[in-house]
Amino acid sequence: MTTIADTTIVNSTRAQAAATDLLVVGAGVVGLAHAYEALRRGLSVRVIERDHRANGASIRNFGHCCITGQGNDIIDMSYASRSGWLDCAADVGFWAPEAGAVVVARSPEEMAVVEQFRDERGTEAVEMLTGEAVASRLGRASGPEFLGGAFLPADLRVDPRTAVGSIAEWIAAQPRADVRFGVTVGAISDGRVHTTAGDFDAEKIVVCVGHDLDYLYPEVAGRYEVTRCSLQMAMAPSPRTFTTAAAVLTGTSLTRYDGFTAMPGHEQLTEALSRTSPELLELGANIMFTLRPDGTVLLGDSHSYDITMPPFQEEWITDRIIEEISGILGARLHLQQRWQGVYASSPQTSLLMEDIDEHTRAVSVTSGIGMTMSFGIASRTFESWGVDRVSATV
Ligand SMILES: Cc1cc2nc3c(=O)[nH]c(=O)nc-3n(C[C@H](O)[C@H](O)[C@H](O)COP(=O)(O)OP(=O)(O)OC[C@H]3O[C@@H](n4cnc5c(N)ncnc54)[C@H](O)[C@@H]3O)c2cc1C
Repeated sequence: MTTIADTTIVNSTRAQAAATDLLVVGAGVVGLAHAYEALRRGLSVRVIERDHRANGASIRNFGHCCITGQGNDIIDMSYASRSGWLDCAADVGFWAPEAGAVVVARSPEEMAVVEQFRDERGTEAVEMLTGEAVASRLGRASGPEFLGGAFLPADLRVDPRTAVGSIAEWIAAQPRADVRFGVTVGAISDGRVHTTAGDFDAEKIVVCVGHDLDYLYPEVAGRYEVTRCSLQMAMAPSPRTFTTAAAVLTGTSLTRYDGFTAMPGHEQLTEALSRTSPELLELGANIMFTLRPDGTVLLGDSHSYDITMPPFQEEWITDRIIEEISGILGARLHLQQRWQGVYASSPQTSLLMEDIDEHTRAVSVTSGIGMTMSFGIASRTFESWGVDRVSATV
């Protein structure tokens, strides 16, 4: 069995439970991906989560693993993450169809960005669609509003409301794992984690607390200028005609993922949107939607930034998002739920990985791509420690 340090010693006078090779703080998707990848490497792992079940960004999102739209700097990690998701889904048995994503282009500027993206990434990664094909994937008759678009076959879908819970349950059932909910970490020093349920020792500690990094490490969060990003989301029963599991992205999505914003046509696209739909830019919209396996559709979203996030939702923002998506689907949507999602953001990086000391690393995804990148990030963590996978499955 590979261990990070063969010298990991259980010292019952120092701590109340056996030390583990790895201790993960936070049972969101980033923490659980680290725990899963640790088990695949034959390591023992403990996960400590302050809530009684995952309740953060990882259950509030679209469940879209946006593999293709990532920037060139992290595209390899993105594809590695895709493999990690598929391995984990096979082990755990949760819904993770290789459903891809459809990009809907409704203006020449949107079409130009999609075509430039196809030219850069190639026709296997970016399959062009006619307006008719886009309409058909949306379950609609074609109309003049759809100029065309693209299908991104490598993108994956998961159900955010059930995926992380199933992963946590599965990890907890593994012989080398210990998952503790309802336990808050207060401080960490020199391989020892101080919690509301006592102290735990580990050779390596990964702190995956998302946007709450500033509570545990204010200096690190301050140095990276970490703020909170708040998003307004909603859910409705899907119109009968909309049945694709592919994520659906629209023109505003092309302004929000680094793969698309690197295209030369991005500037003209933003200018065009500022003429036709300035309010969408004002609310930081990424108009997109995803179908869940229970037949509801997740609808969003907006973006606003602050260190302490006001909880108040603006009704006009939800109205505008729903108006836009209803127009694309050609169907009225009857909202069933609304909620606020929050994730970490930094103007300096989309992925914060900081070694606090020789035992402890803080990992926060500081943009809206943590669901996509989680397993790739976890693999990178173990690579940097020189620990390889020892089996194809756990
Ligand atoms: C509305 C919305 C839509 C999004 N859509 C997508 C998408 O489609 N695709 C995509 O790739 N990304 C998406 N994202 C981003 C993605 O959801 C996040 O990047 C990702 O979930 C972050 O995961 P995490 O594990 O770091 O954080 P979280 O899920 O927030 O988990 C952190 C956990 O740490 C725990 N914790 C905090 N402090 C302590 C402590 N002191 N002790 C113990 N536990 C602690 C918290 O309780 C929490 O459970 C979206 C985000 C939102 C909000």
